[in-house]
Amino acid sequence: MSYVLTTCGFCSCGCAMYVQQENGKVTGLFPSENHPVSNGRLCIKGWNATPAILGADRLRKPLVRRGEHLEATSWDDAINYAASALKKIIFESGPKSIGIIGSAKTTNEECYSLVKFARSVIGTPNIDGACRFYDASLIPALLETTGTPGSQVELSAIPKAGSILIVGSNVMEQLAHVGSRIEDAADNGCKVVAIDPRETRLAPHTSLWLHPKPGSDLAWIRAFLKIIIAERLYTKNAPEMPGFEELRASLEGIEISQLKYSCWLEPAEVHKAVELIASNPPTIVMFGLGALQQPHSTEIVKGLANIAILLGGSVMTLRGQNNAQGACDVGLTNDLLPGYLKLADPVARKVWELVWNCQLPAEPGMTAVEMLKACESGTLKALLIFGENVALSAPNTQATLSALDKVGFLAVSDLYLTETAKIADVVFPACSFLEKDGTFTNIERRLQRVRKVLEPIGESKSDLEIIAMLGAAFGAKMSADPEKVMTEISSSAPIYKGQSFRQLDEEWGQPWVPVGSEAKLAPIEAVTKDSEGEYPFYLIASRINFHQQTGTMTAKSSVLAREYPETFAEMNEADAERLGIRPGSSIRIISETNSLTRVLSVSESVPKGCVHVPHFFGGNSPNALASYETDPVSGVPIYKAYAVKIEAVR
Ligand code: SF4
Repeated sequence: MSYVLTTCGFCSCGCAMYVQQENGKVTGLFPSENHPVSNGRLCIKGWNATPAILGADRLRKPLVRRGEHLEATSWDDAINYAASALKKIIFESGPKSIGIIGSAKTTNEECYSLVKFARSVIGTPNIDGACRFYDASLIPALLETTGTPGSQVELSAIPKAGSILIVGSNVMEQLAHVGSRIEDAADNGCKVVAIDPRETRLAPHTSLWLHPKPGSDLAWIRAFLKIIIAERLYTKNAPEMPGFEELRASLEGIEISQLKYSCWLEPAEVHKAVELIASNPPTIVMFGLGALQQPHSTEIVKGLANIAILLGGSVMTLRGQNNAQGACDVGLTNDLLPGYLKLADPVARKVWELVWNCQLPAEPGMTAVEMLKACESGTLKALLIFGENVALSAPNTQATLSALDKVGFLAVSDLYLTETAKIADVVFPACSFLEKDGTFTNIERRLQRVRKVLEPIGESKSDLEIIAMLGAAFGAKMSADPEKVMTEISSSAPIYKGQSFRQLDEEWGQPWVPVGSEAKLAPIEAVTKDSEGEYPFYLIASRINFHQQTGTMTAKSSVLAREYPETFAEMNEADAERLGIRPGSSIRIISETNSLTRVLSVSESVPKGCVHVPHFFGGNSPNALASYETDPVSGVPIYKAYAVKIEAVR
């Protein structure tokens, strides 16, 4: 029997857990008592990690498409098949006709190697991460404001906060260790102000809950900023900060009295919220996907960062996937190099051209959403997807499935035969976080070790090995040793300077130190988008306690899956009555793009004019209703606050 300390691979809290194994099987799992995040506790997903990732239907051999069917084959055959297809496409259409999408669930070393493979081996600029579907808007926004593209404080700061402003996050269910610390903070007298159209399990711990109209965040954020500046509630040195005058000027003309119509918020409530956070320092401003997947989400994050800066507080980003922070840190985005160096910066390009021995373009490649559109139009001839069930996580499911079906060559690496893998030409069986070494970076920017507990299931391999094999097929030498890859990252990416497996093995792991992070206030201009006429309801999509992302892993756990065996949607009782629909009957939720059917429940936690649709296991995702419309700056799709209509299914 042995115990291996590793990091949970589900959410971005990054709990440390001991996994007990005997004769190659997991026989137990325990939280670390002293780890700064887990602190002796795991959430329900962590406790059920083993059945979720070691399901009986894990892929055990590579698969290659022969006609209509995917057939098991050898690794040599699968790699040669993929390499030949890619070389032919490069010869006929050039490397830019290939797109690559990576995952924020894989290790830092795997994300980095995928970037290196795309940019230096294939020679395509079209490399992006699945963060584009979730939370990538925080990167440009925070680089421009706080200067730190991530949280500014550790979880240990939460219970000491004087006030917390939390926007758009079902934190108690999705990030349990943030939720428990907010609970501690509230017990210590912290004033918690939540702003979310739908009330969640956080409500008992809040001093004030504002229910704005979905999609109106930018309007109330501008009002908050206006009040803070007009009433001089800001920290003493705020007027000397760069950008203060520009911010003040951008807020001119705001009528606080109009908030009732533009945001469904009473001006007195808004004043009270501002007063609570301004008069109770230190303030932490937290935001989750509810804010990050709205129209103009980059502006929203800039506005929230401005609130934190003006009050002398800090930002905490409530990201979804376990390695969302690390994937972006190591350059898994279309427009940045590892360490958030800009592709447009010739000095930064030179650094990485020397490390990777290649020429880098100054222009960004396609975002993940643009790649899907380019698969549909034929501009992209091949798409490689590592560790992401794009068929469910991308918006507009029908169009996405059509795009994936249309692209000339599709290769997928994953644990299971997901909806995306089913339509691939080659499927690489990847191993889980229990079967490999590496690092994840959590919500605090804390770099932590992932340690191999078990031998890979069947013939599965880590993505690092798969990328190295693909590289070798192109004559490139890419390391499959995660320790060496981390050394390469830390020697050239300033934010990871000094990080090594040896150091991480001695400590719990330290948050990386921001480089050149002077705060700057950004002007926030008004933009509006209204739901009117034919589509009178706003859709609120959310995730539940037992479910992680597209459910590729959590759906495999019978314990997690049985908690919500049936999909449902929730409406306010008054709306249901007005529409003449009884609870328990089926409704069709229709957007401009698509429709889905759910059983109706009524709940007073859902405001009038809204329908709440949780994500569920195995498809039927509210993402299907979203279009390919994105935030114009970050390219993040608009999954929240889009307009729908409701019909009874007769
Ligand atoms: S899912 Fe998140 S909170 Fe739950 S055990 Fe894993 S890291 Fe911890």
